[in-house]
Amino acid sequence: MLEFITNRGDIRSELYELIRCFVSDTEEPKQINFTYIRNDDIILYVAVNEKGYRYTYATSAFGDKTEYTRYDLYINKHGLYRALSEYFGRHLPWGSLTGIRPTRLASRLVKTGVPMQNVASHLASAYLVSPEKAQITAEILRTQSQHIEDRLSVASGAVSVPQKELVNLYIHIPFCPTRCDYCSFVSQGIEKQRWLLSPYADALVREIRFTKALIEKQGKRIFSIYIGGGTPTVLDAPLLQKILSAAYEPNVEYTCEAGRPDTIDEEKLQVINSCGVNRISINPQTLHDATLLAIGRKHTAAQFFQAYASAAQYGFVKNVDLIAGLENETPADFRYSLDRITELQPENITVHTLCRKRGSQNALEEKKSNEYTEEMVDYSVRALKHNGYTPYYLYRQKQMTANLENIGWCKSGFLCVNNVTVMEELLPVYACGAGAISKLIPDDGRIVRLANPKDILLYLDQFDERMKKKELFYKNQFTLIS
Ligand code: SF4
Repeated sequence: MLEFITNRGDIRSELYELIRCFVSDTEEPKQINFTYIRNDDIILYVAVNEKGYRYTYATSAFGDKTEYTRYDLYINKHGLYRALSEYFGRHLPWGSLTGIRPTRLASRLVKTGVPMQNVASHLASAYLVSPEKAQITAEILRTQSQHIEDRLSVASGAVSVPQKELVNLYIHIPFCPTRCDYCSFVSQGIEKQRWLLSPYADALVREIRFTKALIEKQGKRIFSIYIGGGTPTVLDAPLLQKILSAAYEPNVEYTCEAGRPDTIDEEKLQVINSCGVNRISINPQTLHDATLLAIGRKHTAAQFFQAYASAAQYGFVKNVDLIAGLENETPADFRYSLDRITELQPENITVHTLCRKRGSQNALEEKKSNEYTEEMVDYSVRALKHNGYTPYYLYRQKQMTANLENIGWCKSGFLCVNNVTVMEELLPVYACGAGAISKLIPDDGRIVRLANPKDILLYLDQFDERMKKKELFYKNQFTLIS
C-alpha cells in the first residue's frame, strides 16, 4: 500500500502520477511525504520511507513572479523525480515527464526560443529525459515541422486552404471479432452484437451526412478522414460500403483500419478501394500464434501475411502495428515479428508498448509486466532506422510498461497526416459514432470536447437529441457534454 502525503494538494494528482511510475500496487508498503516551502527560494523535502532528501531551487533562475508560476509544476516534479530516482536507484526513460505528448512540449520549447538543435539537450537537462528519448523527440519534431506545415498549407489537392478552415473527420466502429486482453477501447465483441450492426451503420451514415453538411455550412474543409475503432472491417462488405462512401471526400488522406487480419477478404478490399480509401492499417501485433491466442486474438500470423498480400495489390499506403512487451514474449520473439514485418516494407510501422489500462483484462488480472519491454523498444528504434524508416509521431499513455511510448515510423514521403494533426492537436476533429469524441480548438488554445454516448443502444436512442447538441457545439457553444 502506498501512502502519499503532501502540502501541495493543488498538484497532488500530477505528483502521484510520477510516483506511480516508480511504485506499483503490488510492491511493499511505501510512505512518501512531499513538502514544498517557498521562502526566497523553493525548498522541497521528500521523504521515502525512512530516507529524506532536500532540494533547493532559486526562484531568480525563473525570471519574475509570473514567470516562476509557469515553472511551478515543472520544479516540483523535478525535485520529486530526483528523490525517487535516488531512492529506487533507477532512472525513467522519460525522466520527470508524465504527459502523453512530449513532442508538444518540445514544440513549445521551440516557440519560446529554444533553438531546434538544442531541444534534445534541453529535454535531457530540464526534464531528466534519457538522451535517447530526448533525441528521438527532437527528431520527430524536425520531421513534423518539415513535412506537416507544407501539407497543411496545401491541403485538399492543389487548393491552398488556411489551417483554421481545416478539420479532420473521424468515424468510430465500436465492434471487434473478439476482445483483446489489453483492450480498453470502446469496442464490443461481435457475437452478441451482430443484430446491432445494421441499425448502427444506418445511424452512423446519418451522422456522417449531418456532420459533413455542418462542415460545409461552416465553410470548412476536410483535411483527412480516419475510420477506426474497433475493427471497421468486421462489418460486411455492403455495410462497409455504405459508411465508406458516405464519408468519402476527394483528394484527402483517407484511412480505414482493418486491424484484425481475419476480418479482411477480397470483397471488402474491393469495397475499401472503390470508396476512395488510400491508406489501410493491418495490425497483427505479433507474429507468434501462441501469443495471439493468449491475448484473445483469434487469428494467425499466416492470416496476416495473406491479408497483407491481398491489400498490397490495391496500392494502399499500408500501416502495420506491433506491440512490444506482450506477455511471455522474449526479445527474440519481438525481433522476429519486427524483422518479418520490416521485410515487407510497409510504408508505415507503428510500435506500441503494451499498456495495462484500467478496464482491460490485463489490468483486472494484474498480470506481471514483461521485463524485456525496454530492450524490445530499443531494438525497434535501431532496426527501423537501419531499414530506412523515420520516426514521425510519438505519444505516451498512462500505465505503459516500463513507462515507455508508442512511435509511428514512416518511409520517406509517407507520413500519416491524420496521426500527426490529431496527436499534436493541430486541427479540430469532427467525430461520428458511439463513443467518438469531437474536439474543437478555439482561438484561446483550449481543447473542448463533445463525446457521443459509448453505449450503442443509447447512441441509437438519443440520436436526434445528440445531433442537436452536436450542431450547437460546432457552432461554438463550447460546453463539455459527455
Ligand atoms: S482489435 Fe483493437 S479495439 Fe478491438 S479488441 Fe483488440 S485492441 Fe480493442
